[in-house]
Amino acid sequence: MKIHEYQAKEILKEYEVAVPEGVAVNSVEDAVNTAEQFYNDGTRLFVVKAQIHAGGRGKGRTKKNNAKGVILCKSVDEVKEAAESLLGDTLVTIQTGEEGQEVKTIYITDGVDIKQEFYLGILLDRAKNRNVIMVSSEGGVEIEKVAEETPEKIIKEWVEPGMSLQPNQARRLAFSLGFEGDAFKKAVRFIHALYRCYEETDANLVEINPLVLTEDNDVMALDAKFTFDDNAMFRQKKYAGLRDLAEEDPTEVEASKYDLNYIKLDGNVGCMVNGAGLAMATMDIIKLSGGEPANFLDVGGGANVETVKNGFRIILEDENVKAILINIFGGIVRCDRVANGVIEAIKDPEIAEKVENVPIIVRLQGTNAEEAKVIIDNSDLNVISAVLLKEAAEEVSKVIAA
Ligand code: ADP
Ligand code: MG
Repeated sequence: MKIHEYQAKEILKEYEVAVPEGVAVNSVEDAVNTAEQFYNDGTRLFVVKAQIHAGGRGKGRTKKNNAKGVILCKSVDEVKEAAESLLGDTLVTIQTGEEGQEVKTIYITDGVDIKQEFYLGILLDRAKNRNVIMVSSEGGVEIEKVAEETPEKIIKEWVEPGMSLQPNQARRLAFSLGFEGDAFKKAVRFIHALYRCYEETDANLVEINPLVLTEDNDVMALDAKFTFDDNAMFRQKKYAGLRDLAEEDPTEVEASKYDLNYIKLDGNVGCMVNGAGLAMATMDIIKLSGGEPANFLDVGGGANVETVKNGFRIILEDENVKAILINIFGGIVRCDRVANGVIEAIKDPEIAEKVENVPIIVRLQGTNAEEAKVIIDNSDLNVISAVLLKEAAEEVSKVIAA
């Protein structure tokens, strides 16, 4: 689960990780009030920041007003202008794709005099089965670019499972960034506090880009990207309310209600599969047959009428879908039952109407596969049976070519 920068900064504050003060608002009026109330001493710099679940805002532009996603303001009037240009407009950044993301919330925060920008990220290194802390003096830039072009500029420390971050590790990281004196101590404290926050909140990514050294020699997080481990949300209930469904793909949100693992893709062949491995293999098959997968959908072990129906509904919401490939292995579930489930699901009036022009290729393998094939073949619906993966691929090719 991703959250917004302003929400992440509230959590960081709880853990005594230094962040500039700020207030999130949803209207121009509240933006002006906030600026007047908290910041209007005539000397302060404000920064107005679009809150969307994507980075690259500083370099992004909104569609209508061509406004930047991060705007420096010197007066309340400028805050008003910034709020007007951002709220309700759609921000396009390198991470949102062309369609962009609507700005519904903005964050009004203290402007900081930056002496130097750094990168700091904590995440799970799956290859090493350890949390890794990565820092780089190349802050403010996309870290993927640094990793590709100058990997030696990223310094890493891995934390032993069962132990916490060791003092010498935090010191090594702060030292590698060139911190000295008082700022060095602050940086060490910052890294420890951030690691504790990462661990205790069950985050699987906390990225501070940029981490800054200010002209006053303070060490602060100016940006914060924060992702919770979804599998741990049962014990992080206090943060569950931070989820912003408006930022997520609506079909994926609906699928999660039915416990379906669904990821929308850009292709034309929908697929419904049981098991993530088979789902990956099925997507490969679709590509080999000249199609492009429209989605990843793992219906899990059950594959009964209800799951198949919900699967159809979700796949068919995507107008690009020209065909559907169902590839289910009947191990615990018997194939004949799945076949009957598929037929029954297709007869549902709502689904029947939509699949009229969408051929469905069904490949059932495993227990009672032959009976299942007979059931599919004997139905007078727009379904085609296949036994081998190769046959399924050929059917997909034919359907796409038609
Ligand atoms: P994004 O990563 O989405 O572009 P950031 O929060 O990293 O957004 O902001 C982009 C840049 O804007 C930062 O690298 C920094 O230079 C500047 N910036 C962001 N917040 C502040 C702030 N509070 N004070 C001064 N400059 C800021
Ligand atoms: Mg950033």
